[in-house]
Amino acid sequence: MSRLFLRTLRDDPADAEVPSHKLLVRAGYVRRVAPGIYSWLPLGLKVLANVEKIIREEMESIGSQEVRFPALLPREPYEASGRWTDYGPNVFRLKDRKGNDMMLGPTHEEFFTLLVKDLYSSYKDLPLSLYQIQTKYRDEARPRAGILRGREFIMKDSYSFDVDDEGLAASYQAHREAYVRIFDRLGFEYVIVHAQSGAMGGSASEEFLAVSETGEDTFVRSPGGYAANVEAVTTVVPDAIPYDDAPAAHAEQTPGTPTIDTLVAHLNEAFPRDDRPWAASDTLKNVLVILRHPDGTREPLAIGLPGDREVDAKRLEAVVTPAEVEPFEDKDFAANPALVKGYIGPGALGAESDSGIRYLVDPRVVEGTRWVTGANVEGSHVIDLVAGRDFTPDGTIEAAEIRPGDPAPDGSGPLELARGIEMGHIFQLGRLYADALGLKVLDENGKLVTVTMGSYGVGVSRAVAAVAEYAHDDLGLVWPKELSPFDVHLVLAGKDEAVVAGAEQVYQDLIGEGLEVLFDDRLGKVSPGVKFKDAELIGVPTIVVVGKGFVDGVVEVKDRATGERTDVPLADLIAHLRG
Ligand code: ATP
Ligand code: MG
Repeated sequence: MSRLFLRTLRDDPADAEVPSHKLLVRAGYVRRVAPGIYSWLPLGLKVLANVEKIIREEMESIGSQEVRFPALLPREPYEASGRWTDYGPNVFRLKDRKGNDMMLGPTHEEFFTLLVKDLYSSYKDLPLSLYQIQTKYRDEARPRAGILRGREFIMKDSYSFDVDDEGLAASYQAHREAYVRIFDRLGFEYVIVHAQSGAMGGSASEEFLAVSETGEDTFVRSPGGYAANVEAVTTVVPDAIPYDDAPAAHAEQTPGTPTIDTLVAHLNEAFPRDDRPWAASDTLKNVLVILRHPDGTREPLAIGLPGDREVDAKRLEAVVTPAEVEPFEDKDFAANPALVKGYIGPGALGAESDSGIRYLVDPRVVEGTRWVTGANVEGSHVIDLVAGRDFTPDGTIEAAEIRPGDPAPDGSGPLELARGIEMGHIFQLGRLYADALGLKVLDENGKLVTVTMGSYGVGVSRAVAAVAEYAHDDLGLVWPKELSPFDVHLVLAGKDEAVVAGAEQVYQDLIGEGLEVLFDDRLGKVSPGVKFKDAELIGVPTIVVVGKGFVDGVVEVKDRATGERTDVPLADLIAHLRG
C-alpha cells in the first residue's frame, strides 16, 4: 500500500448516483476521463481480469475459441449489412487521412462473418464458435452510472456458425448453459428473460438480467414461470365484440377537457352512465410522436391506446428501431393543420385521412370496442365510437406500458414488474448476416447453403459494476472471493519494531503460500483507524491485522462480509485462511 497507485476518497464523486459508481471511484478502482469514458486503476484492473478469467474458462468449456478483432473498422461491411445507416448517431465515425469512412466497432457480427467466409468453405468445418473480449464503442445517448453504461466498454462477444437450424439450436443451448455458469460464478441474483416477442420466434433471444433497483431494464415475471423484458411482452388480445346493437357515435361538447382526467370528470358530470361511472379506460387517447429514420427523415406516427395507459418509451423504441422516437413539437402541429391539439381523434388519423398520419392502435382496441375520443374539434369529443365500424386504424402496435396484474401472454398468471441490469444477451441470429455478406458452405450433397449464426454478448466491464451493486455495505465494497483484487488484505497496526518485522514476515509467508496479498505497510502518519477504513472501503473479503497481539503470537482475522473477528495463533493462520 505504501507504493500502490491508489488514493481512496472520503467523499462520493459529485456525478455519482448509484452505489457501485460511488464506491468504485472512492475506493480507487476506476477514474472518469469524460462522460461514459473511464480509466481502470490497478485495483479495478485486477477485478476486471478476474471477470475475464471466469468468462474465458466457461467459453473454452464449450469449445469456443478466442480471437481478437480490431476496434477500428472500415465502413464497407457495415454498409453491406445495412448497419452503417441503422446505427445512426450511436456509433463513433471517423475518417482516415485518405478520407475513407471508418468506425469504432459497437459489435462485430459483420467481421466474424467475413473472417469465417474467408477461411471456411465446407459443412465439415462446422459447427464453429469464436469469441473475443474487446473494447466496444457506442455513443450512448445517456451514458450513466460510471462503467455501468459507458461509451467505451468491454464486451465478450461470441458467434456460432452452423450449417442447419438444429445445429444453431444446439450452439445456442451450449451458450445458454455457459452463461448460467458465468453468472452463477459472478454471484449476483439474475433472471433469464425472453428478449423478443413470441411472434418473432419465442426463445430465440434471451437476456440475463442482474436483479437490481438501479437497473434500466424493466422485466416481468408470472407465478407460472414466464419471464420477459417489457419490450418482449405481447398483449393478450381480447375477443372482438359484436356491435350490431351499439348506438351510433355522437359528438358532444366537452369544453376545457384536453386531458384524460378532465375529460372523465366532465363525462361523469354531463353524460353519466347508467351502469357505472366513466373511467379513463373508456377513452381512446391518441399520442403523437415523430420517428426519425436512420436516413434523417422525420415521420409522424399516431398511437391510439386506452386512456388509462401511457406509451412506454422503451417498448415503443423497440418496435420502431432502427428509427428513433422524438417528441411531436409545435412545428409538427403547424405542419398538420388537421390535428386539433388535445382533441385528436381517429377521424383525423390514418393513411386515408386528411392528415395522412400513420395510425397504429394498442392491440386491446379490437373490433367492436366502444370509445370516447377526440372529435378533432376544439372542446369536443365523440362518444360510442366503435372500432371496426367507425374507424379502421392502419394496424396495431405494442407500445403501451405493461402494468402489474396484466396477464402473462402464455396464460401463466398475472405479471409482476421488477428492474434489472442487462448483463448478457444470447440471440439466434439465423441467416441475416450470412445472407448479407455471402457466408455459404458446401453441404453433404455438394450444394451451397447459407450458414446460420448465433450471437452472444456479456458486458464485462459492466459486470464489475453490477457485482459492486450487490457486493457492498455502508462501509464499502465486499467482493466475492473469486472477483476480489486480492485474497487477503494484511494490515500492519503498530509501530513497534517487532510488530513491523512480524507483519513483514506474515506477508512473506502468505505470498509463499501463493496467496495474493494487499499489504498495508504504511508507516508514519497513517493511523490504524485510517487503515481499517481503507480496508473496509476496498473490500477484500479477508482482512488480517498484525497488531498488539503479535507479541503473544496472535493475529486478528476479520471477515469483511460479516464483520466477525477471530484471534488466530500465527501457527494456524494459513490453515485458518485456507479453511
Ligand atoms: P442495453 O440495452 O443495456 O443498451 P444492448 O442491448 O445494447 O444493451 P448488446 O448489444 O446485446 O446490449 O450488448 C451485449 C452486452 O454488452 C449487454 O448485455 C451489456 O451487458 C453490455 N453493454 C451494452 N451496452 C453497454 C454499455 N454502453 N456499457 C457497458 N456495457 C454495455
Ligand atoms: Mg444498447
